[in-house]
Amino acid sequence: MKKNIKDYNLNELKQILIELGEKPYRAEQIFKWIFIENVTSFDDMTNLSLELRQKLKENFDLHIFKIIKKQESKDGTKKYLFDVLDGNAIESVLMEYKHGFTICVSSQIGCKMGCKFCASTGVKFSRNLTSGEIVEQLLAVQRDENIKISNLVFMGIGEPLDNYDNVINAIHILNNQKGINMGARHISISTSGLVPKIYKLADEDLQCTLSISLHSANNEKRSQMMPVNKIYNIEQLMEACRYYIAKTNKRISFEYALAKDNNDNLDDAKELIKLLKGMLCHVNLIPINKIENGNYTKSTNENILKFRDYLNEKGIVATIRRELGSDIDAACGQLRKKEVDKC
Ligand code: SAH
Repeated sequence: MKKNIKDYNLNELKQILIELGEKPYRAEQIFKWIFIENVTSFDDMTNLSLELRQKLKENFDLHIFKIIKKQESKDGTKKYLFDVLDGNAIESVLMEYKHGFTICVSSQIGCKMGCKFCASTGVKFSRNLTSGEIVEQLLAVQRDENIKISNLVFMGIGEPLDNYDNVINAIHILNNQKGINMGARHISISTSGLVPKIYKLADEDLQCTLSISLHSANNEKRSQMMPVNKIYNIEQLMEACRYYIAKTNKRISFEYALAKDNNDNLDDAKELIKLLKGMLCHVNLIPINKIENGNYTKSTNENILKFRDYLNEKGIVATIRRELGSDIDAACGQLRKKEVDKC
């Protein structure tokens, strides 16, 4: 297969143009065609010579995803299943908020983390997505809907910090003012807690929001839900989070999916308060989405509200995440799993 031209950041593209015997400013023109004009063919790059367009065609591909399936929720959330052109499929979700459109992207094809409540766990890991494939999810949805997306979250399939280099390069491409120009503040990375990579991310000086999938403040419970906790326990994770906050001066968002009779009672809330007291953070409570063959079911509305109010009373800022797209299997990995199961 030809190389995906979307995998290169602007500096790398300049280097490539020089190697092709072209002036480096051509790289900026190409970068604009790809990331601003969102063209689907090198023939559309009309300010380039025919000869250069031909050279590009011979060496590169624009890697345009095909939509296998698109589902629309009653609340307007749209879920895409994309063919990534090598026989694999990934999913992305588009959500509309008051402040604009947010896309939830996948970072890997499958996931190695094995979280018990997550649909991605049921499908075997295939490979990392390249940076171009990460950005193409946004471009494909923008083309399909004819919109401009203002925010991006790494909360689809995969563990973004397990595909560190490609995720960081994708962020540099998204950030570039000559292209998509999405500020790092509009990008969130969600991690199950790969501690060494949290330190590395803190040192990047990127200003993205970090979300930690915590789900329990108790090591025994967290290890049951998330095997990664057996490698990096809560104390090690919190140490890394404190480093991230000190280094970036940014608030961390802790994700906490509430599962009935598992992590949703007041003792759980008390442990969470003890853990997070005094930290620059926010707790995002998620009513857990039940997955097929999963053991976890959603907490009652009453318990969810009680949990939130208790945290707030004790000085921990907590909000309940709006459940978008639950009627279209928009929870992490669900649509892809259904398609794969059908095969
Ligand atoms: N691997 C990363 C990002 C992908 S999951 C991570 O673990 O953070 C994105 C978020 O959805 C995580 O907070 C994850 O714990 C949560 N999630 C996964 N399955 C879920 C489910 N069935 N119900 C509610 N949240 C879920």
